[in-house]
Amino acid sequence: MEAKKRILTGIRPTGPLHLGHYAGALENWVGLQTRYDCCFLIADYQVSDYADDIARVREAVWEVALDWLAVGLDPDRSSFVIESLIPEHAELTLWLSWFLPLGMLERNPTLKAEMEEFGRRSVPVAFFTYPVMQVANILMPRAHLVPVGEDQLPHIELTREVARRFNRQFKEVFPEPEGLVGRVPRLVGIDGQAKMSKSLNNAIYLKDPPAVVNEKVRSMYTDPTRLRASDPGHVEGNPVFLYHDVFNPNREEVADLKERYRRGSVGDVEVKQKLATALNAFLDPIRERRARFAAKMGLVRDALAAGTDRARKAAQATMALVHEALDLRYLEKFRG
Ligand code: ATP
Ligand code: MG
Repeated sequence: MEAKKRILTGIRPTGPLHLGHYAGALENWVGLQTRYDCCFLIADYQVSDYADDIARVREAVWEVALDWLAVGLDPDRSSFVIESLIPEHAELTLWLSWFLPLGMLERNPTLKAEMEEFGRRSVPVAFFTYPVMQVANILMPRAHLVPVGEDQLPHIELTREVARRFNRQFKEVFPEPEGLVGRVPRLVGIDGQAKMSKSLNNAIYLKDPPAVVNEKVRSMYTDPTRLRASDPGHVEGNPVFLYHDVFNPNREEVADLKERYRRGSVGDVEVKQKLATALNAFLDPIRERRARFAAKMGLVRDALAAGTDRARKAAQATMALVHEALDLRYLEKFRG
């Protein structure tokens, strides 16, 4: 039997995961795990506010693992990996940093946007090494596919470039990985901003209790041009309807709400209440599974330990190829 193709993807442990992570990434991962050999990475080296809030990063490692289990990622099938416990990542990052031109980082639109978030605070050197580390993460298991949200595609382009340069100059070690965007390339925030994100404070978390979900949906940004329920409203680009499209499986209800909204015969309150109901129905089983695992943190720990161990062995095998390609085996010469 032909070996399964490999997938590597990851998330930075900055806190619990939200609907954007689900729609842009996790949903896709759950479907892929049966067909591919998957590594899911908790990228704790790459949290940019590391120096500021290390306690939050430590805690978030568990939050991420719980959310993964809650949405149905299966640690018996796939490896859950803690990045920093595989020091080979750091080594490969250093070698690969020679193959990534600074100009390519400067042109990367995702990095440009992130850079602006620093504002007047000084930018740590790690901000420039983290994209190289992401390249190293993907190349380490010699992954073929990288399922991510749309914002990560520029990073995968960098990875392909580095793989090409390395392979050309030394030896064919790395497959050129392909990005794979899910059903929802980029989920908007509840405030209507282009991306749901923790740092923008516009997220609904997978672990939010029903009352919190209701309240967040009630406060959602909707059609600002509509003053009364009898005004014809805009459905396109309206976050409330975008979420209906993604999370409400009752297509008839959604079609009916859209039609009445356009005509001006349904209020925002009803549209939002129906969305809150759909979201809570979607989140109920996730919250339930999360609570079950949260009561057994020993199992969560064992899943991370086993996955990290498997991935470390694979990393060591890749590093042996890299050492050979770079001709680092100095001490194998002149042996007595
Ligand atoms: P946050 O800003 O909330 O911390 P993030 O973008 O920093 O989220 P990452 O760990 O960088 O989170 O990304 C994990 C994965 O989730 C990536 O594949 C990313 O593309 C995806 N993702 C995150 N937010 C969204 C979103 N709003 N829509 C679609 N995909 C998303
Ligand atoms: Mg993040």
